[in-house]
Amino acid sequence: MTTAEDLIATAAAHCAPTYDPLPVVIASGAGSWLTDVDGRRYLDLLAGYSALNFGHVHPRLVGAARAQLERLTLTSRAFHHDRFAAFCAELAELCGMEMVLPVNTGVEAVESAVKTARKWGYRVKGVPGEMAKVVVAGGNFHGRTTTVISFSTDPEARADFGPYTPGFEIVPYGDLTAMRAALTENTVAVLLEPIQGESGVIVPPAGYLPGVRELTRERNVLFVADEVQSGLGRTGRTFACEHEGVVPDMYVLGKALGGGIVPVSAVVSSAAVLGVFRPGEHGSTFGGNPLACAVALEVIAMLRTGEYQARAAELGERLHRLLGELRGSGRVTAVRGRGLWAGVDVAPSAGTGRRVSERLLARGVLVKDTHGPTVRIAPPLVIGEEELEWGLEQFGEVLSGA
Ligand code: PMP
Repeated sequence: MTTAEDLIATAAAHCAPTYDPLPVVIASGAGSWLTDVDGRRYLDLLAGYSALNFGHVHPRLVGAARAQLERLTLTSRAFHHDRFAAFCAELAELCGMEMVLPVNTGVEAVESAVKTARKWGYRVKGVPGEMAKVVVAGGNFHGRTTTVISFSTDPEARADFGPYTPGFEIVPYGDLTAMRAALTENTVAVLLEPIQGESGVIVPPAGYLPGVRELTRERNVLFVADEVQSGLGRTGRTFACEHEGVVPDMYVLGKALGGGIVPVSAVVSSAAVLGVFRPGEHGSTFGGNPLACAVALEVIAMLRTGEYQARAAELGERLHRLLGELRGSGRVTAVRGRGLWAGVDVAPSAGTGRRVSERLLARGVLVKDTHGPTVRIAPPLVIGEEELEWGLEQFGEVLSGA
């Protein structure tokens, strides 16, 4: 019989070692629960880094996928298909925008946003050729392609992958003075996560996002919000930008847009911005494919009810109250976040984030460390109140060394 250990060893032998997964092999899932190959059950408090906002194998999403699978899965963009128009129109409407550029993964959408901003800069703003600048923030995470790591401040993400793509300036996150200084004549875009996910769920100071909005408007610079992780309900609103009343010029979306079933991502903006492309200037064989559109349309319909956002807001309050109690007891040193999303720095006495993740795994709770002392908690938005409380109880006990 093939054991979990065998499967882990085979994966280690045949998969490039770009990840360091916890030693568990999942075989099935439903809602907030996962079951491993030995039949042990785990509460999922990570939700695929926000790709599983609706939980595992949600019947409505699986139903939409199954129906589409039996009818049509791919045409490529050489032809129209009957789910495409609705996908573009409804996604644009959900974002309060006009046009969509459909691609597949988060980083591909970020790359597409950079290309869009540059093309807009040259064709509309009149920036001289090859001079366009995009301003980004320190501590960002936008993915792992060569261009995107070119503006990462994480040494591990960059080491030995150069030469890097030019045209980016990095300013400290949350610093409006530095942002103002960086917005020079040839700046075409500011690209920011409204809450930085991989950095440890960093919420910028109140007023920062509205300040960036004002500055970018003044200087005719596109404000691009990467809501790949923060968007689609996670923070208690459809978009994290909404908490500060900010409407960016462009959203970058991914993860939960595909319901945890198919890779779906998109750049969403105005016709004045996305309309700069001409046929042949960008594309992807699988971008906007029928299966992706069918699942995303169901995701959009679910978000339209507002139920998931409301649940994230309500349970998020509970999550942050319980984490506040752990902070009060000295077992954690900092708690950040919004809605059903938290970055928790564990006290040195509890060991590293990795150690805490391993001890939680042994108790049937799945989380993943981010950096050193930080553990991220981001359950599916469909998690039950009692499940969440049980998970946090385990967290508290692990932190106190029980
Ligand atoms: N942007 C943000 C804000 C992300 O958190 C991530 C993934 N963690 C990405 C982009 C990249 O997404 P993907 O892994 O689908 O390429």
